[in-house]
Amino acid sequence: MTVDSVITEPHIMTPKGILQKNIVINDGKIIDFTSDTPQCDKKINAGGLVAIPGLIDTHVHYGVYSPIDEAARTESHAAALGGVTTMMRMLRLGHPYRTHLQAQLAASASSHHVDYAIHATIFDEKQADEMKYCTECGVTSFKLYMNLGGEIGHVYMDMDPGTTQLFEATVQIQTNTVRKTLSNAAKLGCPVLVHAEDYQMCECGIKKAKQNKKDGLSAWSESRPPDSEVKSINQICEIAREFGTTIYFVHIGSAAAISAIQEQRKKGTKIFVETCPHYLTLSHEKQSSYLAKVMPPIRTTQDNNQVWNAISQKNIDTIGTDHVANRLKLKVGQDVWSSLAGFPGIGTLLPIMLSEGVNKNRMTLDRLVEMTSLNAAKIFGMFPQKGAINKGSDADITLVDLKKEQKVRAELFGSFSDYVVYEDWRLKGWPQTTLVRGQIIAQDMQVLGKPGWGRLVKRVP
Ligand SMILES: [Zn+2]
Repeated sequence: MTVDSVITEPHIMTPKGILQKNIVINDGKIIDFTSDTPQCDKKINAGGLVAIPGLIDTHVHYGVYSPIDEAARTESHAAALGGVTTMMRMLRLGHPYRTHLQAQLAASASSHHVDYAIHATIFDEKQADEMKYCTECGVTSFKLYMNLGGEIGHVYMDMDPGTTQLFEATVQIQTNTVRKTLSNAAKLGCPVLVHAEDYQMCECGIKKAKQNKKDGLSAWSESRPPDSEVKSINQICEIAREFGTTIYFVHIGSAAAISAIQEQRKKGTKIFVETCPHYLTLSHEKQSSYLAKVMPPIRTTQDNNQVWNAISQKNIDTIGTDHVANRLKLKVGQDVWSSLAGFPGIGTLLPIMLSEGVNKNRMTLDRLVEMTSLNAAKIFGMFPQKGAINKGSDADITLVDLKKEQKVRAELFGSFSDYVVYEDWRLKGWPQTTLVRGQIIAQDMQVLGKPGWGRLVKRVP
């Protein structure tokens, strides 16, 4: 028998440790690990490289500032170059799911380079009633924004496919919506992703800071204090315990939030925690550019250190990027208040974590792999299909050169965004080849695959 391809001489990161064998791939799956090289159509030489499971980016916003068919092409292009093989879209639908989800799915189907999955945001009780319908369409995780309400309930929804108009909306998150979402999710066996910031505290903080004519990233952080995260975390966990819901806290980056979550875990709440590369590498003490404006805000270097600690103590489970595919023209305003929150990050996820984490001995490669693939796959119902280099798994593999050094440039990634917050950072450790279901999608910072190869991942809640 001639197999499709063999990756020769990689150091393979498996859940059971490092393996020095060839990886045999057929029909998109890993079928064997061998010492010899079986007959194959394609040989991929990986001498000197480390084979890790393709990354799963748990938190990606695209389809908001450009329509999803275009956004899927550009952002999955950046994903492929960054070694990400599955991107999880944070869908914000300003319509009922029953009438508008199918159009979003159809517009996504032919334009991804890498595989993808979808989290559905629940903004009101009507959408909460549609959660079962969502699961029937393959959408098996849900999102709540506790930060939307009062005068700060403004949000951009995902664009309607076929349009290029920004879709502005206001949202008032209600307790009834939160309760129904958590109750339904528990019945359906789906996790609920929570953006934990208390909108009332943030509204008040922003008002005060503006009155006092404050500006800059430190004012932004002060106006949305870690205490607002803590309040929101405590509130939602109490409801989650009532229903037995699994909560997944997105983008946790402050010491106070981390310890609040530990307290709630002790009380028996089922919790998973995600952080983002920027909460490990950026602080308002070091960064000044409005480009690094994000919600929740980047905090202090001491918070950075606490997040690194929480990673090594296994109090954080995953790393997502909170990638927002926007452009400078919209992004940067006259002051921090008029600047847009969020920035791109899917292309730099792996190089940042390799350079600032693994190569600086802040975390092991083992731990990085666990957080960026295995844990994400398990939490979101994609394991054992994805998440590890195992026999029978999808051949989603990223070959990494731990020694390669390169400067970050926005143009490298081909994203819709015309900037990155890490511009000019010299990083050590880059992906060299990205395979999605056995197909080489990117190699040597070039995308080789065609859009449309990426599929919606079949998930089991
Ligand atoms: Zn987000």
